[in-house]
Amino acid sequence: MAATTPRRAPGDTQKFRVEVGPSAIDGRGAFAAEAIPARRKIGEIRGEQISVREAQHRARGLARIMIVEISERRAIDASRSADPLRFTNHSCAPNTVLRIRQGRIELYAMRDLAAGEELTVHYGESHHRGRLACRCGAPRCSGRL
Ligand SMILES: [Zn+2]
Repeated sequence: MAATTPRRAPGDTQKFRVEVGPSAIDGRGAFAAEAIPARRKIGEIRGEQISVREAQHRARGLARIMIVEISERRAIDASRSADPLRFTNHSCAPNTVLRIRQGRIELYAMRDLAAGEELTVHYGESHHRGRLACRCGAPRCSGRL
């Protein structure tokens, strides 16, 4: 299943075209479909807003899940989101950074990105709590997710 973000009007949440494709890191990944300059907002990951307690319940036992905590109490479950950025894989040396702003999950380029590059983000403290092996391939990979 390939998903491509069409070019959209200014003011929309998705600023650059992103494609989903097979990833060398894990399963499928999100790839820049056009060049993205450093520090620009790439887009957002939207999903269902749930409580952190519900998020922890949902994450239990699942190997692949996309849940981001947006506050002490609230989280967004993007597991069924149509946004291609939800496929962004973890890397210990990422090229994008995730920012939580007013309850929204935004992804920004940390450096100039070329078309075709896989987008990666540091998941931070993940619900996997170090139980998954990291295969990001970065020289300083921590080995765990
Ligand atoms: Zn790693």
